[in-house]
Amino acid sequence: MQPQPSGRRISSRRLAALASITALTLAVSTSAGNSRLSPGTSAAGAGPSPLSHSSAHGPCLISSSREVQMSEGVPTPPGYTRSIGTVRALTLMIDFPDAPGEGDALDRYGEFFPQTREWFRTSSYGRLDYRPEIPLPDWLRMPRPFRAYGIERGAPFDPGYRELVRDIVEAADPEVDFQAYDLLNVLVTPNAGPSALDTVLSVTFAGNPEAPSADGTPVANASFVYSRQDDGSGSYHRTGYRVLPHENGHVFGLPDLYTAGGGGAVGHWDIMSEDWGANNDFLGWHKWKLGWLDAAQVGCAADRGTKEYSLTPLAEAGGPKLVFVPLDGRSGYALELRTRAGNDEVVCRPGILIYKVDADVDTGMGPITVYDSRRDSGGCTRSPNVHAELSDATFVPGESFVDRRAGIRVAVVSADEDGSTYRVRVTREPPSTQD
Ligand SMILES: [Zn+2]
Repeated sequence: MQPQPSGRRISSRRLAALASITALTLAVSTSAGNSRLSPGTSAAGAGPSPLSHSSAHGPCLISSSREVQMSEGVPTPPGYTRSIGTVRALTLMIDFPDAPGEGDALDRYGEFFPQTREWFRTSSYGRLDYRPEIPLPDWLRMPRPFRAYGIERGAPFDPGYRELVRDIVEAADPEVDFQAYDLLNVLVTPNAGPSALDTVLSVTFAGNPEAPSADGTPVANASFVYSRQDDGSGSYHRTGYRVLPHENGHVFGLPDLYTAGGGGAVGHWDIMSEDWGANNDFLGWHKWKLGWLDAAQVGCAADRGTKEYSLTPLAEAGGPKLVFVPLDGRSGYALELRTRAGNDEVVCRPGILIYKVDADVDTGMGPITVYDSRRDSGGCTRSPNVHAELSDATFVPGESFVDRRAGIRVAVVSADEDGSTYRVRVTREPPSTQD
């Protein structure tokens, strides 16, 4: 059976209770939750990374109008981990009395590193220096059997995870200064719990100031990886690590893009949509949100009339990367050029990817939707665990996307011979009054 894991992944969840906390309380909790700080101090470099923008980007700074757990809105709210500069990832390998680690804990570590560090370096154009650190290179034994924690798919922080995190902190604390790190990775021995082919337990708790504390600060941003995402195709050694960049995407504030229906909303165009199978990258929207694009690399097409923009391949550093066409204060269309380069390993139809971003739609509910230029084509990829239908979703010169109701037309005008620059024309007219 081919796994359809994207549909089985669980949402990263902040505590539901968080929704009722006022902005003021949240801000206070957040500064206290910063792992590098003592409560009450302020510091640069803490929290999510600032979005690079100018006043011209104002209409493109979409935000949610209601409470959502994790939103695509920009900038990312406080409480998440900074995504630029040097980020220290405390990485612990844990096992249990009823599931003792098999072999060397460093082999488990080696399933994810250095690949995850490299993945972020490539995707961020070198802006994120992700440093995994293993102060405890052996298995860290938990005091209770795995089954005693009652870890289940989608389990909230209570009660099993609270106990697990408390036990992790207690076991590691004599040797580990938790305040020295920006995020926590827990690599669980693969023999604990079900196969990832049956149930994906891997989960991240992000921006959670109510997490159990360690060394005086909450373990607010923690990714747990269980089992192995091994589909039996023989590619595990190349692709199995990709669950960790996905989970860490949550600690940086990114929502899940797959839905209950699987990867059909975004396909293989972002690792928050599909993290099995061949390598893929983040969407340009995520790169801007994470602080990896400068203001000059992002066009905001807010004005009436017609304007042309150049776009260069998203996977390559430098040049214009993203055009956003805002619809209202909460949503809009994003345009970017995707090619087979960098982390994008299986792009089979280079071209302009067009997708809608909606800050009001929560994680796992489809906050981003890719438009398919070739509906029902079956796609152009045969790569396993890649959503095929959307693999040829890109628009090429001569093709256009139209939202008649909003009076928006995006035409792909031309491409350089070597495909290194595309031109797109965005036309905004007064919204149509006809339905
Ligand atoms: Zn996720």
